[in-house]
Amino acid sequence: MSASSFSSPLTHPLRRFNHHHLSNKPVSSLFFCSAAKMNGNIHCVPGLGEEEMDTVVGKTFERYALPSSSSSSSKRTGKGTTILWFRNDLRVLDNDALYKAWCSSDTVLPVYCLDPRLFHTTHFFSFPKTGALRGAFLMECLADLRKNLMRRGLNLLIRNGKPEDILPSLAKDFGAHTVFAHKETCSEELHVERLVDKALKGVGNGTKLELIWGSTMYHKDDLPFDVLDLPDIYTQFRKSVEANCRIRSSTRIPLSLGPTPCVDKWGDVPTLGQLGLEPQEVTRGMRFVGGESAGDLLKVYKETRNGMLGPDYSTKFSPWLAFGCISPRFIYEEVQRYERERIANNSTYWVLFELLWRDYFRFLSIKCGNSLFHLGGPRNVQGEWSQDKRLFESWRDGKTGYPLIDANMKELSTTGFMSNRGRQIVCSFLVRDMGLDWRMGAEWFETCLLDYDPCSNYGNWTYGAGVGNDPREDRYFSIPKQAQNYDPEGEYVAFWVQQLRRLPKEKRHCPGRLMYMDTVVPLKHGHGGGNAQTSRGSKSRGGFRDNHSGRR
Ligand code: FAD
Repeated sequence: MSASSFSSPLTHPLRRFNHHHLSNKPVSSLFFCSAAKMNGNIHCVPGLGEEEMDTVVGKTFERYALPSSSSSSSKRTGKGTTILWFRNDLRVLDNDALYKAWCSSDTVLPVYCLDPRLFHTTHFFSFPKTGALRGAFLMECLADLRKNLMRRGLNLLIRNGKPEDILPSLAKDFGAHTVFAHKETCSEELHVERLVDKALKGVGNGTKLELIWGSTMYHKDDLPFDVLDLPDIYTQFRKSVEANCRIRSSTRIPLSLGPTPCVDKWGDVPTLGQLGLEPQEVTRGMRFVGGESAGDLLKVYKETRNGMLGPDYSTKFSPWLAFGCISPRFIYEEVQRYERERIANNSTYWVLFELLWRDYFRFLSIKCGNSLFHLGGPRNVQGEWSQDKRLFESWRDGKTGYPLIDANMKELSTTGFMSNRGRQIVCSFLVRDMGLDWRMGAEWFETCLLDYDPCSNYGNWTYGAGVGNDPREDRYFSIPKQAQNYDPEGEYVAFWVQQLRRLPKEKRHCPGRLMYMDTVVPLKHGHGGGNAQTSRGSKSRGGFRDNHSGRR
C-alpha cells in the first residue's frame, strides 16, 4: 500500500457533503491475536483446504440450502431473465436479492462490475480509495463467489466498468425484466443506484431496478420507529429494538439455482496489477482470506470460542461482514445454535451486542445523510483543525514516537486490520493530541481497512472526534493508561515495533528518544512516558471537549 499519496484536499466528482462511537465492548480487543503475533506467525483465517471446505460447506448447506426438489421450487413462479447485481453482498447463503432474482425468473444472470471509481482516490485527501490488501480480499471474494454460484448451476459475470454502463447493456442483450441488488445507504453508493436506475430507464425495454434491504441483523422495516427518528443514543436504540423486534430467519437458498443464460466470456477475476494496485504480502500478523466460506468462519469462531473468555478476544468477522460474504443474521443464528448445543453465557449476547452497533451505524447513515462526512459531523460542531502534513504522515507511518500508536498503525498497514480499541486510541490521538482534521484519519482507514464500510468507519470517526450525533460520545484516550491496562508487558508494541524488543518490559511504552525516537507532539493529558492520567476540561487542540480518559 502506498504511503506516499498525501496531497491537498481535492474536489471529487462524488462529494460526500456532508457519524460513531467508541464501542461498549465488555472486553478489549486491542491485542486481538496476540498469541499468533507473539510467535511472529502468519495466522490464516479462515482459508481451509478444498476438501475440508467441502465438508464444512456441505454441512452448512444441509441446514441453509433447500434441495432443488423441495417445495421452494414451487416458489419459482417468475418468467424470463433477471440480473443479479452483486455489490457488498458477495455471498450465496442468506442472500435475499439472489433469492428474489431466482424466484422472479427462469434464468438468473449474476454480475459483478469492477467499478473504476472504487480504485480512484478518497474524497478530500486523495489517498488510494482501495488499498492493495482490501483489493486482494475483494478478488478472493469474487473467486469464491463464482465457485459457490457454479456449485448451484450459475456463474458470475465479471465486467470492468461502471454499473450504469454495464447493467443496461446486459439488460438489453439478455432481455432482462429486472435488475435485483441490495440497497446501500451512503452517498457514493446511492449515486450509483440513481445512475443505474436512470440508465435502465433509458434502454426503453422496461427493465426495472429492484433494491432489497439485506445488510443488517434487524430488518429496517421491522424497526419500532421510523429510521429517521432513530434514537441519538445507542443504548436507547438497542433497548427499543431488543424489546420490540425479532430478527428474521435467514433466507434458505435452493441448492440448484440454474439455468443461467449463455454467456460467451464470463470474465476472469483480475490480478491486482490489472486494477492498478501493487500486490502486498502480509509479512506479520493475521492474514485474512476473502470469500463466503461461512462454515469456515463459524468453525473458527467455534474453535476459538473459549478464547472469548479472555480479554483479547473478538470475532474478526468484520472483513467478511463488510463485503457481505456472511450475513449478520446468519452469524446470529449460528451463534445461538452453537450456544444452545453447548453452554450459553455472556459471549453469545456480546456478539449480538456488537452486531447491533453495526446495525446502528447503518441506520444512522440514513438518518444523518452526508453530515456523516462533514468536518463538523452530524452536530455541525465548530472547531479549529489542522491538516499538518508532517504530523499526519508520522501518524500514518507509525512514527509518532508513541509505541502504542505506532504499533497499531503498523498493524493496520501490514494486515489491513486493527482492533476496536486500537482504532479508538489512534483516533483519539490524531484528533485530540495532534489536533488534526479527523477526516484525514477516516480516509486513511478507508484506504487500508479490510473491513472498510462507510457507515461504520465514518460513524465511529465522528464519535471519536466528538462530532457524532451523540454529544456524550466525546472521549480522550490516555495512551499511558491504555498501555498500562491493555499491554502491561509491552508485548503487543514489541511485536510490531521490533526495536522495542530489546528493551525491558517496563520501558517498552516509554522508551525515550535515545532508544526509540522523539515524540511528535506532547500528550495533552499525561506524559508520553508517564503513568496513566486523566485530565479534564483543558482547551482542546481541535477545539472540542475532551473530558474522558477512555471508555473504561
Ligand atoms: P467484534 O468485536 O468481534 O464484533 C463483531 C462484529 O460487530 C464486527 O465484526 C462488526 O461488524 C460489528 N462491530 C463491532 N464493533 C463495532 C463498532 N464499533 N461499529 C460498528 N460495528 C461494530 N468496523 C467496520 O466494520 N468497518 C469500519 O470501517 C470500521 N471503522 C472503524 C473506525 C474507528 C475509528 C473505530 C473506533 C471503529 C471502527 N469499526 C469499523 C468498528 C470496529 O472497530 C470493528 O468492527 C471491529 O474492530 C472488527 O473486529 P471484530 O470483527 O473482531 O469485531
